[in-house]
Amino acid sequence: MDECIFCKIVRGEIPSSIVLDTDKVIAFLDIRPVNKGHVLVVPKEHFETLLDGSENILRDMIVAAKKIGKSFRKALKADGFNLGMNNFAAAGQVVFHAHLHVIPRFENDGLQHWPGKTYDEGEIEQYKEKIATFL
Ligand code: 5GP
Ligand code: ZN
Repeated sequence: MDECIFCKIVRGEIPSSIVLDTDKVIAFLDIRPVNKGHVLVVPKEHFETLLDGSENILRDMIVAAKKIGKSFRKALKADGFNLGMNNFAAAGQVVFHAHLHVIPRFENDGLQHWPGKTYDEGEIEQYKEKIATFL
């Protein structure tokens, strides 16, 4: 993936602030952080979304995210952290090389939880049936 920006970062062709570098993943600071310290966990192999990653690489990504969350608590005195992943354009994915967002959170940091919708009568059961059918 010659033109992929995260592949270029993995190859060291574009500078980045790397906090963790293993055989399979790197983690570096997001240039436009939701909160300062926001890290992206990126597999070294190119694939686009969660659906394209092997269980092994997904395990490595989540293990890296756990380490980063643990570091946030110590290094940044974070009260918590969010783990997020945007899959496909409709979900806000802009860089089509899979990545996890690890965002340090602080009491009263001003960020809002995403809004909750409501189900009509009986609707939650219909959603349950539809989704469970394909699992
Ligand atoms: P997503 O695809 O999940 O919506 O977000 C992509 C993320 O990558 C954004 O938060 C954006 O700030 C970050 N990003 C995009 N280009 C670069 C880059 O060249 N360097 C770094 N460090 N982060 C980037
Ligand atoms: Zn890539």
